[in-house]
Amino acid sequence: MWIFRLPGTLDAREVDLDTLWSAGAQGLEEHGETVLAYFSEKMDVPLLGEWTEEPDQDWQEGWKKDLKPVQAGAFAIAPPWLASEVPPGQRPLLIEVGMAFGTGHHETTRLAVEALSERSWALQPRVLDVGTGSGVLALAAALLGAGEVIGVDIDPVTIPAAEENARLNGFLRLDDHFVRPGSAGTLTFMEGTLSEVPAAQPFDVLVANLYAELHDILMSQYREVIAPGGQVVLTGILTGKLPLVLDALAREGFQNAQSRTQGDWVLVVAQA
Ligand code: SAM
Repeated sequence: MWIFRLPGTLDAREVDLDTLWSAGAQGLEEHGETVLAYFSEKMDVPLLGEWTEEPDQDWQEGWKKDLKPVQAGAFAIAPPWLASEVPPGQRPLLIEVGMAFGTGHHETTRLAVEALSERSWALQPRVLDVGTGSGVLALAAALLGAGEVIGVDIDPVTIPAAEENARLNGFLRLDDHFVRPGSAGTLTFMEGTLSEVPAAQPFDVLVANLYAELHDILMSQYREVIAPGGQVVLTGILTGKLPLVLDALAREGFQNAQSRTQGDWVLVVAQA
């Protein structure tokens, strides 16, 4: 096992945690003023840190034992082995850790789950989750009462991870999509980009946790796939980049943009 040591605390290195997960970190831990990232092999990590090789041991259990369910909107997001620790009255959203981005430990995921939890699901809206990662936002929408949900991701490794998370949350595969007993909705994960999503009908909700520059580039495509009166829920935006996204929303005729912040991160909701 290889450990990459980075000076600082998990809080102070918040902006680098995605880089570590993306590079293949299987667990992160804080020891005093050092962040330890655990890897199965030495990887190309574009950060200044120090590698050491340690004898294999039960290190996974070490970081697993410190994880707790994370509260976000209507849900307590937890890995499957912590399902029994979800407090009574809270709704579990089970997500396996270390397979794809979207475990609930990042502000942007929590902001998006909160925004989805606050909207009305009475009319069973159709939802598109762009950059679905672990599938967490698509799953939240499906569990909240969406009619049809599609989660799309450019990274092929995310699709089996998202599908596994669907199974963990009680969804059953039926041909190319998932259904949940007792619910009329459907859930589909697909590899690709927004332009590859079959657009038989427009979507009522588009949720995307990407980054500001990509929202700017994709905004005209968001406009094309969203129904009149539909809602876009956009996050992954650093506070300083909010004007870029607000300008792009205005350029494409979205209205009523409302933002909220957690730490360095912003979420914007707007209407088509
Ligand atoms: N939706 C999850 C969440 O909110 O926690 C994961 C978000 S993660 C920050 C961003 C995801 O977007 C990654 O899984 C990445 O592969 C995917 N992605 C990046 N660019 C994309 C694009 N142009 N089209 C589709 N997916 C993209």
